[in-house]
Amino acid sequence: MTAHQKNFIAGEWIDGSGITRDINPSNTNDVVGEYAKADKAQTEKAIAAAKAAFPAWSRATPQERFDALNKISVEILARKEELGRLLAREEGKTLPEGIGEVARAGQIFAFFAGEALRLTGEKGASVRPGLEVEITREPVGVVGMITPWNFPIAIPAWKIAPALCYGNTVVFKPAELVPGSAHALSEIIARSGLPSGVFNLVVGSGSVVGQTLLEHPDVAAISFTGSVATGRKIAQACVLSTPMKKFQLEMGGKNPLVVLDDADLKVAVEVAVNGAYFSTGQRCTASSRLIVTAGIHDRFVAAMTERMKGLSVDDALKSGVHVGPVVDQSQLDQDLRYIKIGQDEGARLHWGGELLNRETPGFYLQPALFTETTNSMRIAREEIFGPVACVIRAKDYEEALAISNDTEFGLASGICTTSLKYASHYKRNSESGMVMVNLPTAGVDYHVPFGGRKGSSYGAREQGAYAREFYTTVKTAYTFPG
Ligand code: NAP
Ligand code: MG
Repeated sequence: MTAHQKNFIAGEWIDGSGITRDINPSNTNDVVGEYAKADKAQTEKAIAAAKAAFPAWSRATPQERFDALNKISVEILARKEELGRLLAREEGKTLPEGIGEVARAGQIFAFFAGEALRLTGEKGASVRPGLEVEITREPVGVVGMITPWNFPIAIPAWKIAPALCYGNTVVFKPAELVPGSAHALSEIIARSGLPSGVFNLVVGSGSVVGQTLLEHPDVAAISFTGSVATGRKIAQACVLSTPMKKFQLEMGGKNPLVVLDDADLKVAVEVAVNGAYFSTGQRCTASSRLIVTAGIHDRFVAAMTERMKGLSVDDALKSGVHVGPVVDQSQLDQDLRYIKIGQDEGARLHWGGELLNRETPGFYLQPALFTETTNSMRIAREEIFGPVACVIRAKDYEEALAISNDTEFGLASGICTTSLKYASHYKRNSESGMVMVNLPTAGVDYHVPFGGRKGSSYGAREQGAYAREFYTTVKTAYTFPG
């Protein structure tokens, strides 16, 4: 049965002004939970609590921060199977993917527990005689977090952990589609010994809770992950608010995977299938453009099709399933719309793309592969965010590289080749934030920076030690000792 879960504001669990139902996309008869929706006044209360908690938390010792973050990490890791099941049930990625994502969240908290102990400054000589110059980092203030549905625990973790690590206070607005993982994470954070008000959860819509965060003068910074359209609105609101807010945006992708004639075919197919279709293709780093050179094109398409025939698309919680359902009806409608657009544009739907019936009612879509695609078609230019990939034929490496970079996005890119020369050239010349050689475009470490360029990202990088650029502000202090 479903329980009614509350928001966490100023150290208390508070009822909302409405309810959002969390539905299992593998079985739409299964209600994962019911969650209180915060309204504008409650969001303002959370912001006020975070503001009140900031002075003390911003001066908390590294030990206090380490202890809280480490405790959060330990509990997440200890409960990864249970939380992974909840995640897979509410979002539709497979159980192993769900457990993997939860483990990732735990590792991120462990990393930032350590970072809390490592924050140092610099001291240098002044260009003027007798002066000392110090450069230190201070927290930014109240940080509003607005997150998407596709990584319901890892993305919140990689924003919340560094924010707390560097002494900021947090108001967290998860995507309305996935309140379950956000709530479970918040319960763990609530038990970690943080002073009340340091962390607040406000479930609710972007237009109410999100908008309130964007407009409020006491929110100093916004960390956002989601679509380009929402990202633009956020950027505008942050610049127009008084005082202006610091912001970082992680947005969409149309990530290329280049497959060269000299690639190991087996490796290339595994890399492409994983990058394009795992997590139902609902990853910002998914490989949606497979750019294949002429000499291997037909063999690659044939091997890819064989491999796709072996993929099991079913209930995310069943064992042995490779691809779970699409997250909800509106995303499924978008995927089907793009499949139709691709066909209308003259691309060939080579395999998949049809709706599937399974034991339970869910949003099951056979992964789709388009061939005879050109890079100017909409299916090659616009983010679909589903299990749909297109193969684009290229004459040679040079043309493949040019097609690879001919996109408004620049999050992740990849190349499959056995040539050191092409691998090195591609790493240097691919216009993306993350480049993979013989690896899927999706799938990254947590201790190094994550992010893109061009239309995919704006502002400081997330994750690893680089996260401190966003979650701290630099102070330069001059002293004349006399
Ligand atoms: P979305 O529709 O942009 O929503 C993202 C978040 O913004 C949600 O919490 C949403 O609230 C909120 N929001 C919507 N309108 C708002 C407004 N006017 N003001 C304030 N907040 C607002 O994105 P999504 O569909 O959840 O996620 C899919 C997108 O995320 C894809 O484009 C994907 O590429 C991108 N993504 C990027 C990365 C990356 O790191 N680059 C990682 C993962 C996903 P609601 O709860 O109301 O929806
Ligand atoms: Mg759901």
